[in-house]
Amino acid sequence: MADRTMRAWSVVAPGPVEEGALRLVEKPVPTPGEDELLVRVRVCGVCRTDLHVVEGDLEVHRPAVTPGHQVVGTVAGFGTAVRGFTVGDRVGVAWLRRTDGTCAYCARGAENLCPASRYTGWDADGGYAPYTTVPAAFAHRLPGGLDDVAAAPLLCAGIIGYRALRRAALPPGGRLGLYGFGGSAHLCAQVALAEGARVHVLTRGAAARRLALELGAASAREASDPPPEPLDSAILFAPVGELVPVALRALDRGGVLAIAGIHLSDVPPLNYERELFYERELRSVTSNTREDAREFLAIAARHGVRATTHVYPLSEAPRALADLKAGRFDGAAVLVDDLD
Ligand SMILES: [Zn+2]
Ligand SMILES: [Zn+2]
Repeated sequence: MADRTMRAWSVVAPGPVEEGALRLVEKPVPTPGEDELLVRVRVCGVCRTDLHVVEGDLEVHRPAVTPGHQVVGTVAGFGTAVRGFTVGDRVGVAWLRRTDGTCAYCARGAENLCPASRYTGWDADGGYAPYTTVPAAFAHRLPGGLDDVAAAPLLCAGIIGYRALRRAALPPGGRLGLYGFGGSAHLCAQVALAEGARVHVLTRGAAARRLALELGAASAREASDPPPEPLDSAILFAPVGELVPVALRALDRGGVLAIAGIHLSDVPPLNYERELFYERELRSVTSNTREDAREFLAIAARHGVRATTHVYPLSEAPRALADLKAGRFDGAAVLVDDLD
Protein backbone atom coordinates (compact mmCIF):
# COMPACT_ATOMS: atom_id res chain seq x y z
CA MET A 1 0.00 0.00 0.00
CA ALA A 2 2.90 2.33 0.77
CA ASP A 3 3.47 3.33 -2.83
CA ARG A 4 -0.18 4.10 -3.50
CA THR A 5 -1.54 7.61 -3.35
CA MET A 6 -5.04 8.98 -2.88
CA ARG A 7 -6.82 12.30 -3.21
CA ALA A 8 -7.59 13.68 0.26
CA TRP A 9 -8.79 16.96 1.77
CA SER A 10 -6.10 18.90 3.60
CA VAL A 11 -6.20 22.04 5.79
CA VAL A 12 -3.44 23.89 3.94
CA ALA A 13 -3.79 27.18 5.83
CA PRO A 14 -6.58 27.52 8.42
CA GLY A 15 -9.10 30.21 7.50
CA PRO A 16 -12.63 30.72 6.20
CA VAL A 17 -13.86 27.55 4.50
CA GLU A 18 -15.45 29.61 1.72
CA GLU A 19 -11.99 30.98 0.85
CA GLY A 20 -10.32 27.63 0.15
CA ALA A 21 -8.78 26.68 3.52
CA LEU A 22 -9.58 23.07 2.67
CA ARG A 23 -7.81 21.81 -0.47
CA LEU A 24 -7.83 18.54 -2.34
CA VAL A 25 -4.27 17.18 -2.42
CA GLU A 26 -2.48 13.97 -3.39
CA LYS A 27 -1.26 12.04 -0.31
CA PRO A 28 0.14 8.55 0.21
CA VAL A 29 -2.41 5.97 1.33
CA PRO A 30 -1.48 5.75 5.04
CA THR A 31 0.43 2.78 6.43
CA PRO A 32 -1.11 1.52 9.69
CA GLY A 33 1.14 1.45 12.77
CA GLU A 34 1.69 -1.92 14.42
CA ASP A 35 -1.39 -1.56 16.66
CA GLU A 36 -3.51 0.22 14.01
CA LEU A 37 -6.13 -0.64 11.40
CA LEU A 38 -6.13 0.73 7.87
CA VAL A 39 -9.74 1.70 7.16
CA ARG A 40 -11.34 2.07 3.74
CA VAL A 41 -13.66 5.06 4.35
CA ARG A 42 -17.20 4.65 3.06
CA VAL A 43 -18.91 7.53 4.85
CA CYS A 44 -17.59 10.35 7.07
CA GLY A 45 -19.90 12.53 9.11
CA VAL A 46 -19.42 16.31 9.19
CA CYS A 47 -18.93 17.77 12.67
CA ARG A 48 -18.74 21.38 13.81
CA THR A 49 -15.30 20.53 15.20
CA ASP A 50 -14.13 19.91 11.61
CA LEU A 51 -15.14 23.48 10.86
CA HIS A 52 -13.18 24.69 13.94
CA VAL A 53 -10.10 22.78 12.67
CA VAL A 54 -10.44 24.14 9.12
CA GLU A 55 -11.05 27.74 10.20
CA GLY A 56 -8.36 27.85 12.90
CA ASP A 57 -10.64 28.19 15.94
CA LEU A 58 -8.61 25.25 17.26
CA GLU A 59 -4.83 25.52 17.15
CA VAL A 60 -2.98 23.50 14.52
CA HIS A 61 -1.87 20.11 15.91
CA ARG A 62 -0.80 18.55 12.62
CA PRO A 63 0.03 20.79 9.66
CA ALA A 64 -2.04 20.04 6.52
CA VAL A 65 -4.21 17.63 8.50
CA THR A 66 -7.05 15.75 6.84
CA PRO A 67 -10.14 16.40 9.01
CA GLY A 68 -12.99 14.02 9.77
CA HIS A 69 -13.73 11.88 12.82
CA GLN A 70 -17.05 10.16 12.22
CA VAL A 71 -15.88 7.44 9.86
CA VAL A 72 -17.78 4.34 8.90
CA GLY A 73 -15.62 2.04 6.84
CA THR A 74 -14.17 -1.41 6.46
CA VAL A 75 -10.87 -2.84 7.63
CA ALA A 76 -8.48 -2.87 4.65
CA GLY A 77 -5.36 -3.97 6.51
CA PHE A 78 -3.69 -3.83 9.95
CA GLY A 79 -0.40 -3.78 11.79
CA THR A 80 1.41 -6.84 13.11
CA ALA A 81 0.22 -6.44 16.74
CA VAL A 82 -3.50 -6.26 15.91
CA ARG A 83 -5.70 -9.17 17.02
CA GLY A 84 -9.44 -9.69 16.64
CA PHE A 85 -10.05 -7.90 13.34
CA THR A 86 -10.43 -9.31 9.83
CA VAL A 87 -10.16 -7.53 6.51
CA GLY A 88 -13.69 -6.48 5.54
CA ASP A 89 -14.97 -5.94 9.14
CA ARG A 90 -17.15 -2.83 9.44
CA VAL A 91 -15.76 -0.35 11.98
CA GLY A 92 -16.36 3.16 13.21
CA VAL A 93 -13.62 5.73 13.83
CA ALA A 94 -14.38 8.52 16.32
CA TRP A 95 -12.71 11.64 17.75
CA LEU A 96 -10.76 10.08 20.66
CA ARG A 97 -7.86 8.30 18.96
CA ARG A 98 -5.37 7.40 21.65
CA THR A 99 -4.65 7.88 25.35
CA ASP A 100 -1.65 6.80 27.45
CA GLY A 101 -3.76 4.41 29.56
CA THR A 102 -1.46 5.03 32.53
CA CYS A 103 -2.13 8.51 33.96
CA ALA A 104 -4.31 9.23 37.00
CA TYR A 105 -7.27 10.24 34.78
CA CYS A 106 -7.09 7.07 32.69
CA ALA A 107 -6.76 5.01 35.87
CA ARG A 108 -10.01 6.40 37.29
CA GLY A 109 -12.03 5.92 34.10
CA ALA A 110 -11.72 9.53 32.89
CA GLU A 111 -9.62 8.86 29.79
CA ASN A 112 -11.37 11.82 28.12
CA LEU A 113 -9.19 14.02 30.39
CA CYS A 114 -5.90 12.24 29.59
CA PRO A 115 -3.23 14.92 28.99
CA ALA A 116 -1.62 12.64 26.39
CA SER A 117 -4.86 12.10 24.43
CA ARG A 118 -4.78 12.35 20.64
CA TYR A 119 -7.65 13.06 18.29
CA THR A 120 -8.66 11.86 14.82
CA GLY A 121 -8.72 14.61 12.21
CA TRP A 122 -6.70 16.97 14.42
CA ASP A 123 -3.54 15.15 15.65
CA ALA A 124 -3.76 12.52 12.91
CA ASP A 125 -5.31 12.42 9.46
CA GLY A 126 -9.01 11.60 9.52
CA GLY A 127 -11.80 10.57 7.24
CA TYR A 128 -12.12 13.28 4.57
CA ALA A 129 -10.20 10.82 2.39
CA PRO A 130 -10.64 7.35 0.91
CA TYR A 131 -8.40 5.78 3.59
CA THR A 132 -7.56 6.52 7.21
CA THR A 133 -6.02 4.68 10.17
CA VAL A 134 -7.11 4.09 13.75
CA PRO A 135 -5.57 2.27 16.72
CA ALA A 136 -7.47 -1.03 16.92
CA ALA A 137 -8.23 -0.42 20.62
CA PHE A 138 -10.08 2.79 19.67
CA ALA A 139 -12.07 1.39 16.71
CA HIS A 140 -15.78 0.93 17.39
CA ARG A 141 -17.92 -2.05 16.47
CA LEU A 142 -21.16 -0.71 14.99
CA PRO A 143 -24.62 -2.12 15.65
CA GLY A 144 -26.14 -4.07 12.76
CA GLY A 145 -29.34 -2.72 11.25
CA LEU A 146 -27.86 0.74 10.79
CA ASP A 147 -26.59 1.59 7.32
CA ASP A 148 -23.32 3.49 6.89
CA VAL A 149 -24.96 6.88 6.35
CA ALA A 150 -27.18 6.50 9.41
CA ALA A 151 -24.32 5.26 11.60
CA ALA A 152 -21.76 8.00 10.83
CA PRO A 153 -23.33 10.88 12.82
CA LEU A 154 -23.62 8.65 15.87
CA LEU A 155 -19.82 8.54 16.16
CA CYS A 156 -19.29 12.09 17.39
CA ALA A 157 -22.55 14.00 17.32
CA GLY A 158 -24.24 11.07 19.03
CA ILE A 159 -21.56 10.14 21.53
CA ILE A 160 -20.87 13.74 22.60
CA GLY A 161 -24.59 14.47 22.89
CA TYR A 162 -24.89 11.41 25.11
CA ARG A 163 -22.00 12.43 27.36
CA ALA A 164 -23.46 15.95 27.59
CA LEU A 165 -26.80 14.46 28.64
CA ARG A 166 -25.11 12.47 31.41
CA ARG A 167 -23.06 15.55 32.48
CA ALA A 168 -26.31 17.55 32.67
CA ALA A 169 -27.50 15.08 35.37
CA LEU A 170 -31.12 15.05 34.24
CA PRO A 171 -33.32 13.45 36.92
CA PRO A 172 -35.75 10.68 35.80
CA GLY A 173 -38.72 12.25 34.02
CA GLY A 174 -37.00 15.64 34.27
CA ARG A 175 -37.30 18.84 32.24
CA LEU A 176 -34.44 19.29 29.76
CA GLY A 177 -33.60 22.38 27.71
CA LEU A 178 -31.48 22.08 24.56
CA TYR A 179 -29.89 25.31 23.31
CA GLY A 180 -29.03 24.83 19.64
CA PHE A 181 -30.46 21.94 17.69
CA GLY A 182 -27.96 20.55 15.18
CA GLY A 183 -26.48 17.11 14.66
CA SER A 184 -25.59 16.40 18.28
CA ALA A 185 -28.70 17.88 19.90
CA HIS A 186 -31.20 16.05 17.71
CA LEU A 187 -29.62 12.70 18.69
CA CYS A 188 -29.36 13.68 22.36
CA ALA A 189 -33.06 14.67 22.31
CA GLN A 190 -34.03 11.19 21.09
CA VAL A 191 -32.16 9.50 23.95
CA ALA A 192 -33.68 11.89 26.53
CA LEU A 193 -37.21 11.39 25.16
CA ALA A 194 -36.77 7.59 25.11
CA GLU A 195 -35.75 7.82 28.77
CA GLY A 196 -38.89 9.78 29.67
CA ALA A 197 -37.66 13.39 29.74
CA ARG A 198 -39.74 16.42 28.76
CA VAL A 199 -37.60 18.26 26.20
CA HIS A 200 -37.70 21.97 25.36
CA VAL A 201 -35.66 23.15 22.36
CA LEU A 202 -34.38 26.73 22.17
CA THR A 203 -32.77 27.56 18.86
CA ARG A 204 -32.67 29.92 15.92
CA GLY A 205 -33.87 28.46 12.63
CA ALA A 206 -37.44 27.43 11.82
CA ALA A 207 -36.31 24.14 10.21
CA ALA A 208 -34.52 23.03 13.39
CA ARG A 209 -37.54 23.95 15.54
CA ARG A 210 -39.81 21.99 13.19
CA LEU A 211 -37.53 18.93 13.41
CA ALA A 212 -37.52 19.24 17.23
CA LEU A 213 -41.32 19.12 17.39
CA GLU A 214 -41.45 16.20 14.91
CA LEU A 215 -39.09 14.23 17.16
CA GLY A 216 -41.36 14.83 20.16
CA ALA A 217 -40.07 17.97 21.89
CA ALA A 218 -42.69 19.58 24.14
CA SER A 219 -41.82 23.05 22.85
CA ALA A 220 -39.48 24.79 20.40
CA ARG A 221 -38.68 28.48 20.70
CA GLU A 222 -36.06 31.10 19.83
CA ALA A 223 -32.80 30.64 21.77
CA SER A 224 -33.23 33.93 23.65
CA ASP A 225 -36.81 33.12 24.77
CA PRO A 226 -37.50 31.60 28.18
CA PRO A 227 -38.69 27.98 28.10
CA PRO A 228 -42.35 27.37 29.10
CA GLU A 229 -41.29 25.89 32.46
CA PRO A 230 -38.13 25.94 34.62
CA LEU A 231 -35.51 23.36 33.62
CA ASP A 232 -33.87 20.67 35.74
CA SER A 233 -31.04 20.44 33.22
CA ALA A 234 -29.92 22.22 30.10
CA ILE A 235 -27.28 21.58 27.46
CA LEU A 236 -25.69 24.33 25.40
CA PHE A 237 -24.88 22.97 21.94
CA ALA A 238 -24.63 26.33 20.13
CA PRO A 239 -21.02 27.65 20.35
CA VAL A 240 -22.37 30.95 21.67
CA GLY A 241 -21.11 32.19 25.05
CA GLU A 242 -23.88 34.83 25.25
CA LEU A 243 -26.35 31.99 25.79
CA VAL A 244 -24.67 30.81 29.03
CA PRO A 245 -26.43 33.38 31.28
CA VAL A 246 -29.66 32.92 29.28
CA ALA A 247 -29.61 29.16 29.92
CA LEU A 248 -28.59 29.56 33.59
CA ARG A 249 -31.57 31.86 34.19
CA ALA A 250 -33.85 29.19 32.68
CA LEU A 251 -32.75 26.60 35.28
CA ASP A 252 -34.81 25.73 38.31
CA ARG A 253 -33.10 25.75 41.72
CA GLY A 254 -30.40 23.07 41.80
CA GLY A 255 -30.38 22.79 38.00
CA VAL A 256 -27.32 21.94 35.89
CA LEU A 257 -26.14 23.50 32.63
CA ALA A 258 -23.65 21.47 30.57
CA ILE A 259 -21.71 23.07 27.71
CA ALA A 260 -21.26 20.48 24.97
CA GLY A 261 -18.93 22.21 22.51
CA ILE A 262 -15.14 22.10 22.21
CA HIS A 263 -15.13 25.82 21.35
CA LEU A 264 -17.28 28.62 22.79
CA SER A 265 -17.26 32.37 22.19
CA ASP A 266 -16.57 34.41 25.35
CA VAL A 267 -19.06 34.11 28.19
CA PRO A 268 -20.32 37.52 29.38
CA PRO A 269 -20.05 38.39 33.11
CA LEU A 270 -22.45 36.34 35.21
CA ASN A 271 -24.69 37.76 37.90
CA TYR A 272 -24.31 35.54 40.94
CA GLU A 273 -27.82 36.03 42.29
CA ARG A 274 -29.73 35.70 39.03
CA GLU A 275 -27.59 33.07 37.31
CA LEU A 276 -25.72 30.91 39.83
CA PHE A 277 -27.23 31.14 43.33
CA TYR A 278 -29.64 28.41 44.53
CA GLU A 279 -26.98 25.86 43.65
CA ARG A 280 -27.25 26.08 39.92
CA GLU A 281 -24.22 24.43 38.32
CA LEU A 282 -22.25 25.12 35.16
CA ARG A 283 -20.25 22.22 33.68
CA SER A 284 -18.17 21.66 30.59
CA VAL A 285 -18.03 18.48 28.52
CA THR A 286 -14.64 17.32 27.27
CA SER A 287 -14.52 14.70 24.53
CA ASN A 288 -15.74 11.27 25.65
CA THR A 289 -14.52 7.95 26.90
CA ARG A 290 -14.75 4.67 24.98
CA GLU A 291 -17.23 3.56 27.64
CA ASP A 292 -19.51 6.51 26.68
CA ALA A 293 -19.31 5.32 23.08
CA ARG A 294 -20.17 1.72 23.95
CA GLU A 295 -23.10 2.81 26.14
CA PHE A 296 -24.45 5.25 23.56
CA LEU A 297 -24.17 2.87 20.59
CA ALA A 298 -26.07 0.21 22.58
CA ILE A 299 -28.76 2.70 23.65
CA ALA A 300 -29.04 4.06 20.11
CA ALA A 301 -29.61 0.55 18.76
CA ARG A 302 -32.13 -0.29 21.50
CA HIS A 303 -34.22 2.88 21.07
CA GLY A 304 -33.83 3.22 17.29
CA VAL A 305 -32.07 6.59 17.56
CA ARG A 306 -31.81 7.90 14.00
CA ALA A 307 -29.91 10.85 12.59
CA THR A 308 -31.63 13.08 10.06
CA THR A 309 -28.91 13.07 7.39
CA HIS A 310 -27.99 15.18 4.38
CA VAL A 311 -25.66 13.41 1.98
CA TYR A 312 -22.87 15.23 0.12
CA PRO A 313 -20.22 13.64 -2.10
CA LEU A 314 -16.80 13.71 -0.40
CA SER A 315 -15.54 15.77 -3.36
CA GLU A 316 -17.83 18.59 -2.11
CA ALA A 317 -16.67 18.64 1.53
CA PRO A 318 -16.12 22.44 1.61
CA ARG A 319 -19.74 23.01 0.51
CA ALA A 320 -20.98 20.73 3.31
CA LEU A 321 -18.91 22.69 5.87
CA ALA A 322 -20.09 26.05 4.47
CA ASP A 323 -23.71 24.85 4.71
CA LEU A 324 -23.11 23.74 8.31
CA LYS A 325 -21.60 27.15 9.13
CA ALA A 326 -24.58 28.96 7.60
CA GLY A 327 -27.14 26.66 9.25
CA ARG A 328 -28.53 25.62 5.87
CA PHE A 329 -29.60 22.11 6.92
CA ASP A 330 -31.19 20.47 9.93
CA GLY A 331 -29.81 17.26 11.45
CA ALA A 332 -26.35 16.13 10.29
CA ALA A 333 -24.38 16.17 7.04
CA VAL A 334 -22.42 13.13 5.87
CA LEU A 335 -19.83 12.74 3.11
CA VAL A 336 -19.95 9.66 0.90
CA ASP A 337 -16.61 8.83 -0.69
CA ASP A 338 -16.44 9.52 -4.41
CA LEU A 339 -12.69 10.25 -4.55
CA ASP A 340 -11.40 6.71 -4.96
ZN1 LIG B 1 -4.05 9.03 30.43
ZN1 LIG C 1 -17.06 15.88 16.39
